[in-house]
Amino acid sequence: MSIGETIGAEAKPKKKLAVITCMDTRLVNFLPEKMGLERGDAKVIKNAGNIITDDVLRSLVVAIYCLDVEKIAIVGHTDCGMAGADIEEIRKEMIKRGVNPYFTPDFEAWMGKMDNEEENVLKGVELIKNHPAIPKDVEVEGLMIDINTGEIKKLI
Ligand SMILES: [Zn+2]
Repeated sequence: MSIGETIGAEAKPKKKLAVITCMDTRLVNFLPEKMGLERGDAKVIKNAGNIITDDVLRSLVVAIYCLDVEKIAIVGHTDCGMAGADIEEIRKEMIKRGVNPYFTPDFEAWMGKMDNEEENVLKGVELIKNHPAIPKDVEVEGLMIDINTGEIKKLI
């Protein structure tokens, strides 16, 4: 029995879709509504700035090989707090609160620093498409949602 068979059919996304988006509070309920997603339609993976980290890739591997996902959409948004986030400021705040920010060799990279929301989505699409764990038959698209109007624009 494969891992996929042990997972109930109801846990598999009806639209065979995985969405990677930002944890921004303004996207709660808003993004699924604008994308026309209902309960049960898609796997939704969120983090600060919809950065493609190892953990996102791990979730995608589960989504693809166990949950029959065939399509991945990275959805960035306008006015993302991670765009131009002041990493140095975060580091200072950590020190102020008694935390050593040098627990990782490259804190900036670890934080997923990005400068532009659209470029970040495009970079993420490239990363997923070229990742050795992702099969070539999986469709990967990059979208941007306007945080105010909800208008969705396809980048790639
Ligand atoms: Zn954001």
